[in-house]
Parts: sequence; C-alpha cells; structure tokens
Amino acid sequence: MKCTRCRAPAEVNLRQHNSGFCRSCFVFYFQRQVERAIEKERMFHQDEAVLVAVSGGKDSLALWDVLVTEGFPTIGFHLALGIGEYSARSRARTEQFAAARGLDLHVHALADEGLAVSDVASATRRPACSACGTIKRHYFDAAALELGCDVIATGHNLDDEAARLLGNVLHWQTEYLARQRPVMQPRHEKFVRKVKPLYLTSELETATYAFMRGIDYVVEECPNAAGATQLVYKDVLDKLENVSPGTKVGFVRDFLARGSSAFAEREGDSAAQSCAGCGMPSFGALCSFCSLRAEVERKLRPREAATRRSESPQ
Ligand code: SF4
Repeated sequence: MKCTRCRAPAEVNLRQHNSGFCRSCFVFYFQRQVERAIEKERMFHQDEAVLVAVSGGKDSLALWDVLVTEGFPTIGFHLALGIGEYSARSRARTEQFAAARGLDLHVHALADEGLAVSDVASATRRPACSACGTIKRHYFDAAALELGCDVIATGHNLDDEAARLLGNVLHWQTEYLARQRPVMQPRHEKFVRKVKPLYLTSELETATYAFMRGIDYVVEECPNAAGATQLVYKDVLDKLENVSPGTKVGFVRDFLARGSSAFAEREGDSAAQSCAGCGMPSFGALCSFCSLRAEVERKLRPREAATRRSESPQ
C-alpha cells in the first residue's frame, strides 16, 4: 500500500478512512485531525490556557504532544491516584515526558492526604471507579481554577466515546446522552470548559502516533478496569469495526450531528451554592468530593486510630 499523501510506502493502514500513510505523513495527518476537531467544535483558541489532564497513558500524552507542537499554551496536571504500582509507573512516565520537553507539569498525590483511590474504595465500599471519578472531577476543576486555565482537555478517544455512547443508548441514559459532547460549557463561574480533542481519533491512531513520536507511555490498563462493562462494549464495537470499518466514527459523529439534539440538558442542573468544605460549586452543603472525604474520615480514621492504639506500647 502507498501513502495517500506522498505515495511513499505506507506504514499505517487506516481502514476506516480508506487511507494509508508513511510515518511523517501519519504524524502530519494525526496532528491535523486534532487541530480540525479543536477548530470545528470551537474548543479553544491559541490565546487560552489549556489544562491538560495527563494520566501517563498514550492518549493524554499524545494529546499534550500535539497541543505543544501546535503552539497552544498548556499546563499539565497529573493526579497520582494511589493505585499501587500502576500509579507509580503512570506518574513516572508523565514526569519523564514533561521533563524531556521542558513542560510545565503539576502533580497532586492523593496518598499525601490519605485519599488514595484504593483506600477510599475499601473504606467506603464504593466501586473504585466511582470514587475515582468523583475525586478526579474535583481535582481537575480545582486545578483549572487555581492555575488560571480557561479550559480542561482530556484524552478521551473515539473508542472511549463510542463505548460510552453504546452504554448510554443501551440503558437509555438520557441525562448522560444530553451531556455526551466533545465540548461541555461550564455551568458555574468557578468551572471552565471541558473538551475532548481526540473524540474522533481511534485508540489505534493515538497508539501509533505515540509510538512514532517516541512517547514512552504506560501500556498496562488500570487494574480496576478489569471486568468493566465499558471494556465489553469496546470489544463489541471492535468486532463491528472489523467487519464494517468506520462503524465507530459514524456512530459517534452521526449521534452528534443527528441524535444529540433530542437529548437537551435539563434547566436548573447547575450547582447553586458553594461547598462548605472546599468552596467549589455544590448542589448541597457539601459537594460530592467533600461528602466522600467526610465519609472516609468517619470510616477510616477511627480504624487507623484503633490500629495505632493496639500497636503502641502499654
Ligand atoms: Fe480510576 Fe477506574 Fe479508570 Fe482506574 S479504571 S483510573 S480506578 S476510573
């Protein structure tokens, strides 16, 4: 197969686009795809500060690489989740990436304040991903506010979006369908816009880009992802994509073009008060993050105190 752009031998075959690319043309093509998504969906401008939520995986690091290459002012934010070796490796990859390129990176370690995801999940008996989601949302919002960023960019890719859409459609989660967009406008003055510049680029494309750009990323999945329904949906979509290339991109793109408007967001969904714990917007006296933290305090700290008492010399 020949490169669609320059006719050199192709290294990558993108069946969903009926195209092949050599290495340098693929890098150009990928960066243009991301740039086009940013422009078309009016995600942000060159003069806006972008907080890039970097996990250490291929998608967020590839995204940061593209944004820096395209000249967008970025600040990296890594939340060290405290999920054993997986988190240690993720943090190391992120720090190496930033250091090698001289990029501004802020790291917040949950374990430092006794909120490692694994501990929170076991103390509150919540699914790890539920606790993790609440914690991530809080820290991303708080970091954007503190660092004066105009927008938060995450590395959700086409496969993530298609799997999420499939799950939402199968269960007719109309509220989630109303919010499934590549750009979420803030609903409070302390929040900023949230965007997903990779929403139309596949997992295979981001992995290929990361490889071609020499990005060293964490290859393994988070151990808590094992058995997640989202992975089953991804598997089903992979099978469909295999027999009918372009299924995923058509599913997401056509939903946004023709289906999304049927699921309007409800009025009055914005948080009306400030959280008594952290001052961020909240629906009740405490925001969901501070409620979770209070629950951990109640359930974990007495246990720790009892352990310390039993270990102390009589
Ligand atoms: Fe967090 Fe779950 Fe994702 Fe792991 S799989 S990073 S616990 S949301």
